[in-house]
Amino acid sequence: MTAALTTLSDDERLFRDSVFDFADHEIRPHVRQMDESAHMPRELIDKLFTLGVMGIEVPESAGGAGGTFFHAVLAVEAVSRVDPAVGVLIDVHNTLVINALLRWASEALRQAYLPRLAERSIGAYALSEAGSGSDAFALATRAVERGDGFTLTGRKLWITNGNEADIFIVFANLNPEAGYRGITAFVVERGFPGFTVGRKEDKLGIRASSTCELIFENCEVPRSNVLGEPGKGYKVAIETLNEGRIGIGAQMVGLAQGALDHAIRYIKERKQFGKSLAEFQGVQFQIARAATDLEAARLLVYNAARLRESGQPFVTEAAICKLFSSEVAERVASLAVNLYGGYGFVKDYPVEKLYRDAKIGQIYEGTSNLQLQTIAKHLLG
Ligand SMILES: Cc1cc2nc3c(=O)[nH]c(=O)nc-3n(C[C@H](O)[C@H](O)[C@H](O)COP(=O)(O)OP(=O)(O)OC[C@H]3O[C@@H](n4cnc5c(N)ncnc54)[C@H](O)[C@@H]3O)c2cc1C
Repeated sequence: MTAALTTLSDDERLFRDSVFDFADHEIRPHVRQMDESAHMPRELIDKLFTLGVMGIEVPESAGGAGGTFFHAVLAVEAVSRVDPAVGVLIDVHNTLVINALLRWASEALRQAYLPRLAERSIGAYALSEAGSGSDAFALATRAVERGDGFTLTGRKLWITNGNEADIFIVFANLNPEAGYRGITAFVVERGFPGFTVGRKEDKLGIRASSTCELIFENCEVPRSNVLGEPGKGYKVAIETLNEGRIGIGAQMVGLAQGALDHAIRYIKERKQFGKSLAEFQGVQFQIARAATDLEAARLLVYNAARLRESGQPFVTEAAICKLFSSEVAERVASLAVNLYGGYGFVKDYPVEKLYRDAKIGQIYEGTSNLQLQTIAKHLLG
């Protein structure tokens, strides 16, 4: 018998439940304070390492959990149900940074960085610039061959985990005349000469997740820190982001689930016209529609993740899952705000934050229009 997409193995279910349990007890009490201060305490990040969600796919021999991509998706969903800002820290670290290293790094780079990423060092993924977002391959950061390595010069913008990360995957063009075929991926450490982390953005949502500018002024990078081959960075960028956006789908599914959890709890408690809100059919139908949306979004995310996991084509499905789940997250969070009434509009209750957090799902790792472009290209050739 074929299992349902949402059927988890015992191991997956135990993992997901333990991550949610952690998030419920260790993250939930701090969500509001982290949002207000736009800061994620290092003690919490240390606990994420101890929990085993910061090296999910890193082999056990390198200090990781030896899990799968699907485990990473489950962890991002479970944490985002409580706080999507913590969810994206885990997501970028696992589904972009570690994923790219597992896929493209030389043996020496794997040995140098995977144990650190699994044990204590946070990763960041630096592609976007002020002038190149959707048109990512128009990046202006330059790499120049010098001595026994390269120097990087330019600025990156919007880099998640920029404030906390020690290890950065940075894309720069080594041969601008070759266009995108000059783009090369480098592994850069925070301490490399010529590299500084710049301004941190003040954001609408996922405020506890840092988003920073990175500045490279003749930053010296050893030759051995090229990730993949010189001139093949565009492949690293595209293929990693194709996978990463399934993680953003999971973040949005988690967010929507969190908003629905709050809404259901609230409508059972809140009384108007002598009845709980949950007794009104108009409210019941709204909740039923939200649950339907959420189920569809989760199926799309799990399907894309399972396709990727089993080595089948998944790029269109990944675009569909991110597009749809980010819209569902916004709709469900909006409904939760509505059902809380005036209480939904103030910071004493958790749903206004989830509504703010939802917006980013339609922007990063490819805007909704870019997902539509991918889907249309598949349909129309
Ligand atoms: C909180 C946050 C975290 C981020 N984290 C990272 C990170 O860790 N690493 C990283 O590299 N980047 C990161 N980004 C950058 C993010 O990926 C970009 O913001 C995103 O790709 C959009 O690029 P842009 O902001 O330049 O918008 P633009 O590309 O200028 O797009 C503006 C609008 O135009 C539309 N548009 C653009 N081109 C087309 C087209 N061809 N057809 C139709 N519509 C189009 C877009 O859909 C959008 O609505 C982050 C951004 C934010 C806000």
